[in-house]
Amino acid sequence: MCDILIVGGGPAGLMAADYLSKLNYSITLVDQMPTMGRKFLMAGKSGLNLTKNEPFEKFLKNFSENTPQLLCALENFTPHDVQSWATSLGISLFTGSTGRVFPTHMKASPLLRAWLSQLDKRGVNRRHKMKAIALNDMSLLFETEDGEEEISAKAILFAMGGASWRRLGSDAGWLKWLNNVTNEKFRASNVGLKINWSNHVNKYFGEPVKAITLKSGTIQSQGEIVITQTGIEGGGIYSLSPAIRKGEEIFLDLLPNWNEKQLNDALQKPITKVSWSNHLRKVFKLNRVKQTLLREFSSNSLSKEQLLLDLKCLRITHQGVDEIDKAISTAGGVNFDQLDNNLMLSKRPGIFFAGEMLNWDAPTGGYLITAALATGLWSAKGIDSLLSGSSFS
Ligand SMILES: Cc1cc2nc3c(=O)[nH]c(=O)nc-3n(C[C@H](O)[C@H](O)[C@H](O)COP(=O)(O)OP(=O)(O)OC[C@H]3O[C@@H](n4cnc5c(N)ncnc54)[C@H](O)[C@@H]3O)c2cc1C
Repeated sequence: MCDILIVGGGPAGLMAADYLSKLNYSITLVDQMPTMGRKFLMAGKSGLNLTKNEPFEKFLKNFSENTPQLLCALENFTPHDVQSWATSLGISLFTGSTGRVFPTHMKASPLLRAWLSQLDKRGVNRRHKMKAIALNDMSLLFETEDGEEEISAKAILFAMGGASWRRLGSDAGWLKWLNNVTNEKFRASNVGLKINWSNHVNKYFGEPVKAITLKSGTIQSQGEIVITQTGIEGGGIYSLSPAIRKGEEIFLDLLPNWNEKQLNDALQKPITKVSWSNHLRKVFKLNRVKQTLLREFSSNSLSKEQLLLDLKCLRITHQGVDEIDKAISTAGGVNFDQLDNNLMLSKRPGIFFAGEMLNWDAPTGGYLITAALATGLWSAKGIDSLLSGSSFS
């Protein structure tokens, strides 16, 4: 028996433990993996983008779900608070030119180490290799290396993550046993696109494509993409995920910074002697990789009207998005409408939810970790309010 049982040692669960451990509760924090924060560590592999420095209104617009609970959580723990919190753990940060905030050393491990050590000092009982498999009233049954074990608590927080990168722990196995909770089906978000490339593209695998704009439905993205053996990856395509999920087509603008006059002037230039690819390079300043994309997806018509359309609005033919397990994050999960303002299941007082397990979606760029931290903290405040009988705003 403990006061508070937190299931899931990702950013959401750790942040909840962080707050509650300052308040004199007995806390048990469990994870099914041998160590905590594995996805967080993976996020730091190519640079841990912790949050985004931009006007708060703009920041909020990146979240698909405008639920009051998510809004309250993010207002209570803003990108500014994320930075103060990381700094308080001894981690120095920098803000890139696009507003993305990273630890100076880019990795997640120093931050995670400092965080876990702080929790240990405050007496949080951290337990590993414990897989939650059933909920009975306020008791949770775990599968452990030594057989089954039951832990009861006054409040239980589920922060078991989304449904991608199963090998890091968030395998959505809870869908089988958390029966009374209404979920929206998990779908891949921030995920690459599958494309059956022709052989012409082979030599560009691994190449970035910069200075482009991608559009799908109402979403426009200026991030770069990388050509891979199986399609394309990168921020530029990831942020279109919500529109692609709705079946919207994807269009590529290869010359986003060209004005109408520049385009018209270039289109008037006759194609003489020089090869087509030289013409594209000299007149339209298209590098090899952009030329290859043009060749791959265009009708290859030499009419000026069609060329203009292809350069500015090239339709990408694809075979759908990559499998969910390869997605950076997932949309779907526990629906907000069955949770109270503090992320507690309305029909089961004492049961709380936080993190990517909840049904919200956002692009990469620090939004995911910020929302995981913010909902972890917000649910922790709800737990304290329930157990202490106090209220908070
Ligand atoms: C490659 C990659 C790069 C990323 N880069 C960024 C980035 O730069 N910036 C950003 O904002 N976001 C990034 N993300 C996303 C971010 O890491 C996640 O959104 C975030 O980790 C979600 O936090 P969480 O606490 O909700 O869940 P998780 O971090 O997934 O943690 C959930 C935990 O619950 C445990 N668990 C699950 N089921 C059980 C069970 N039955 N019993 C016990 N324990 C269980 C899991 O083992 C896991 O440790 C990246 C993700 C990936 C995969």
